[in-house]
Amino acid sequence: MAASMHRQTWRQLMRLHSQRTATLTATARTCPRFLPVAAPARRSYSSNPNPNPNSNSNPNSGSSSSSNPPPPPPPRNSGQEVKFWPFAVLIAIASGAYVLLTRTRQEMPARPNSGASGGRGQLLPPPSNKPTPAFSPRDVTVLFVLGGPGAGKGTQCARLVSEYGFTHLSAGDLLRAEQERPGSEFGALIKDCIKNGAIVPMEVTVQLLENAMAETIRSAPKGSKSAARFLIDGFPRKMDQALKFEEVVCPAKLVLFFDCPEAEMERRLMERGKTSGRADDNAESIRKRFRTFVETSMPVVEHYEKEGRVIKVDATPTPDDVYKDTKGKLVKFLGEGF
Ligand code: UDP
Ligand code: MG
Repeated sequence: MAASMHRQTWRQLMRLHSQRTATLTATARTCPRFLPVAAPARRSYSSNPNPNPNSNSNPNSGSSSSSNPPPPPPPRNSGQEVKFWPFAVLIAIASGAYVLLTRTRQEMPARPNSGASGGRGQLLPPPSNKPTPAFSPRDVTVLFVLGGPGAGKGTQCARLVSEYGFTHLSAGDLLRAEQERPGSEFGALIKDCIKNGAIVPMEVTVQLLENAMAETIRSAPKGSKSAARFLIDGFPRKMDQALKFEEVVCPAKLVLFFDCPEAEMERRLMERGKTSGRADDNAESIRKRFRTFVETSMPVVEHYEKEGRVIKVDATPTPDDVYKDTKGKLVKFLGEGF
């Protein structure tokens, strides 16, 4: 509707423009001062040594007889008149456009004042084109679980799952599974990123998480408590992931952040590396993962901290103590039995 009005306005403008051009051309025919190509002005800059035989500009022409009738005065400010023509057209077009737009506005029905997006009869687009998340935070609870590599995210998640009935989704585990899936077009990319402690492009991880959430919800027995409550472990590790996930999948309720000194995380990872079989539990990959965490993932924690959505837990003590602290803080934030 708006587009067709726009087209109509444009057509009217073009018609106005051609009418105006025709009028000016007719004027120019009768009045050479308005010749659109500004022949006199051009000639004055021309290399032709004697462009106008009637011109009085040649100093040698002063020898012409005084009995001859005086030559017609040269056109005044011919250069400026030539420049004036396009301005006249522009002003005419602008005035026409203003009048047309004013008229069109008056004819438009008033915008419904519902405040709801996409209401019937609404002529202007809704205020935002943001996609609606796949899951509503009213039906689905998402807690992000963050912390450096080796901070103990997986360990604490396992305990919360068994006591409170969450579904645990580890972004790292989903990526490793995708890497191993025969025929995956992302296998090589994921392998390379994991080995170098780099972040896999967010589209891949966000999609894997959304698929896993949808599958959990779809296959859950009726009334299952854990089906719609997710602990998303090791994600988001980068701001673009955080924004994308909350925009297209589901807004998160909070971030559980396990804070641990690097020396302690390194000790744990080297220990785990003896048996984990993980390609990134070695000294070189660990160093890269730490750097990525500090440079790329900490800004995500800081972003949520500013929004008051972070529960920070000191992850240095024993797993039992960390769990006790975690539970206490979750109860405070979400209520008993969260
Ligand atoms: N990873 C990623 N995006 C994510 C989560 C993980 O690219 O959102 C990759 C990244 O290379 C990371 C690796 O997967 O270093 C291992 O992640 P995981 O969460 O398993 O590591 P953890 O924190 O448990 O040591
Ligand atoms: Mg982990």
